[in-house]
Amino acid sequence: MINTVEVASHCVCMDYDGNPADDCWGCYDDSKENLHHLIINWLGENDAPSSATVLVQGKGMNWTGDTGYAKCDANTILDTIRLERVDYRIEFYQDRDNLTARRWSHDEPMGSARFTFTIQKEN
Ligand SMILES: [Zn+2]
Repeated sequence: MINTVEVASHCVCMDYDGNPADDCWGCYDDSKENLHHLIINWLGENDAPSSATVLVQGKGMNWTGDTGYAKCDANTILDTIRLERVDYRIEFYQDRDNLTARRWSHDEPMGSARFTFTIQKEN
């Protein structure tokens, strides 16, 4: 079973009829909390500590479809792939010891950027 968490830069709150809500009741913080739990699960599946270093590899980023990579801590994954100044929506997928993400934004009109996350083993 794949666990999915969505994080968006804009409000995604729904009212009881499933329409966009007039007021935000903290969906961004809720999403970050859900993502935190997903990452803890993923670290657990990998027998990795919460201080683990993660290699982030991206494809299809920005207008030019860039590829690239970065290293971060397990608790700064979102900060590493979220965008400044433009709206975005990111979905994280955890399947046992596997973690991937897709990002949609105005800077990525051809589809979505794709990210894979690999825990760096201690030497
Ligand atoms: Zn909201």
